[in-house]
Amino acid sequence: MNRKLIIAIDGPAGAGKSSVARKLARQLDYLFINTGAMYRAVAWKAQQSGIPLDDVEQIGRLARESRIELTGPVDATRVLIDGEDITESITSPRVSQAASVVSAIPAVRRALVARQQQMGNQGGVVMEGRDIGTMVFPDADIKIYLDASSEARSHRRFDEDTARGIAVASIERMRSEIEERDLRDKSRDDSPLMQAEDAIYIDSSGLSIEEVVVRILGAVSSKMN
Ligand code: C5P
Repeated sequence: MNRKLIIAIDGPAGAGKSSVARKLARQLDYLFINTGAMYRAVAWKAQQSGIPLDDVEQIGRLARESRIELTGPVDATRVLIDGEDITESITSPRVSQAASVVSAIPAVRRALVARQQQMGNQGGVVMEGRDIGTMVFPDADIKIYLDASSEARSHRRFDEDTARGIAVASIERMRSEIEERDLRDKSRDDSPLMQAEDAIYIDSSGLSIEEVVVRILGAVSSKMN
């Protein structure tokens, strides 16, 4: 059987979702969709346009009216908003925090979730975020909740950011930023980060990206057979 599955990967920041999803998409020849980049794009545009992050109405409109594109090959995806390439600009800690604030706005979620459903509904997709298995594709073929200790997550993010040339004050600072963001993502009213009942829980603290991918591929092949 060669059915094209919908694979949903959720979890907190720094658990390895993007690296795992990208690798999986490459191996399966599926689309890779990083939904966090879409929330980051809205946050970036709001900051760029001088819209305060608590202006729910204007930010909701911005999310509805902006054209957000995730383009390019799996290993070199680019993020564009209204034609402008913002791939590098949206990785800063400032945008990370702002993304977590704007993502709590229901109008923003409505606009982005609708687009994510359009992008993935044909199947053949690995989509990662916070609410993919719970809200975007509650009937996804495979749901993974990828977790890790906050220590492992802050080390991973610190290493990633340093490698990308992003200035990070310290691991402790990174850890408190990640914890602040997770708390906000888990405690918001609209679509909080949580494990879907039927999701497979994987703790990646002591695992390599490859080891996590192998486990998920195991679930994929049992679904296919
Ligand atoms: O995954 P990433 O860290 O890039 O996501 C940035 C922020 O976007 C998260 O902290 C979260 O607040 C928000 N987000 C979300 N729902 C998703 C993906 C990301 O609320 N599906």
